[in-house]
Amino acid sequence: MSTEESLTLDKRLALVSFTKDAEPFIVVDTNKCNHCESKPCLYICPAEVYAWKEKLNYNTEGCMETGACLIVCHKIGAGAISWSYPSGGKGVTFKLG
Ligand code: SF4
Repeated sequence: MSTEESLTLDKRLALVSFTKDAEPFIVVDTNKCNHCESKPCLYICPAEVYAWKEKLNYNTEGCMETGACLIVCHKIGAGAISWSYPSGGKGVTFKLG
């Protein structure tokens, strides 16, 4: 097993850095989330951008820009998430390529 294969998710996440974008690049219509039964965004995001504390909370600062949340939210028909890439030079930087 190579060194890369033995890294845990936490260790992999420690290898990325983020530059905050002043403009919101993810916007969620959280009123739709109140009626969402499965809430797949809470489980699919590797950076744990989404959390449920009586309502949907999200912090885009750790977003790894996979777009997985957008896909699952729209796949279940909720369509609560509007998502785009951060402005140039902002967002995630993968230090190991
Ligand atoms: S999947 Fe979409 S609608 Fe459901 S909780 Fe997450 S963001 Fe809200």
